[in-house]
Amino acid sequence: MTNSEPDSPGRTAVEVERLTVRLDGTLIVDGVDLDVAEGEWVTVIGPNGAGKSTALRAIGGLLPFGGTVRWHGRAVADMHRRERARAVATVLQSPVVPPGVRVFDYVLLGRTPYIPPLGRESAADLEAADEALAALDLVPFAGRRLDTLSGGERQRVFLARALAQGAGILLLDEPTSALDIGHQQEVLELVDRLRSSRGLTVLATMHDLSTAGEYADRMVLLSGGRVVAAGTPSEVLTEENLAEHYRVKVRIIPGDHGPLVVAVRT
Ligand code: ADP
Ligand code: MG
Repeated sequence: MTNSEPDSPGRTAVEVERLTVRLDGTLIVDGVDLDVAEGEWVTVIGPNGAGKSTALRAIGGLLPFGGTVRWHGRAVADMHRRERARAVATVLQSPVVPPGVRVFDYVLLGRTPYIPPLGRESAADLEAADEALAALDLVPFAGRRLDTLSGGERQRVFLARALAQGAGILLLDEPTSALDIGHQQEVLELVDRLRSSRGLTVLATMHDLSTAGEYADRMVLLSGGRVVAAGTPSEVLTEENLAEHYRVKVRIIPGDHGPLVVAVRT
C-alpha cells in the first residue's frame, strides 16, 4: 500500500498481520492477525499473561515488533512519531503520571504532537484540552491535582488526554479494571458515545467477559500469544472456548447486548 491511497467508506482502520513481539528473548505475541474497521469496536480478551497488553502496545507502535501494523493503510514503521500520535491514542493500564500535575495540564499533554519543538501550545491546543475536559464531565476538576482524583475520575482524565490528542483510533488497555461496576459502565458508555459522535475506532483489551461482549462489535480471544478465536461476542464467548483457554466452567446466559458469562463451580 502507498501513502497516497485514498480513504474510502468501510475501510480498515487497523490491520495487523503476523504480529510477533519478543520480550527479553521470549516470544510473547506469536503471529497475531486482526483488523478493525473504521468506527468499529474490537475487544481482545484472554487469560492473564496471554499477551493482550503486549500486543496492544505493539499495535500502538510503542514496542518493537515483527510483522505488519497498518493504520488507515499506512505501515506504522513508515510513520514519524508525531504522525503516529495524531493517528492513534493509546491509554495504557497504569499510565505514568508526572507527580503533582494538574488535570488540565495533564490533558494538554495530549496536544504534544501538535506543539512545535521548543514552541508553546496554541489557542487551538488549549481549546482542544478544554473540549476534551467538557466531553468527559471533568471541567470542575481542571485545576485539581490528578493524584487527588478517584480511580473513576482519573480514568476519565486518561481518556480526555487521548481525546485531546485528536486521533481517530483509540487503543485502550483494560480501561475499566480499576473501577466498580457503576463506573465501569459509565466509562464504557462514554467511550461508546464518543465513538459514535466522533467516528472513533476502538481497539481495547478487557478482563470482564460479559462487559467486553456487551460493548464490542467483534472479539479476539488471545491465548499463549496466539489468536485462538475471533468473531462476534456470541461466537467467541462459548462454554467450549472459555473451558479450553481459561480452564473454567461457565454458563452463558443470553443478554440484551451480548452473551453474559457466569463462572460456575464444577
Ligand atoms: P496480558 O496483558 O494478556 O495479561 P501481557 O502482555 O502483560 O499479558 O504479558 C504477556 C506475558 O509476557 C506474560 O507472561 C508476562 O510475564 C510476559 N512478559 C512481560 N514483560 C516481559 C519481559 N520484559 N520479559 C519477558 N516476559 C515478559
Ligand atoms: Mg494486560
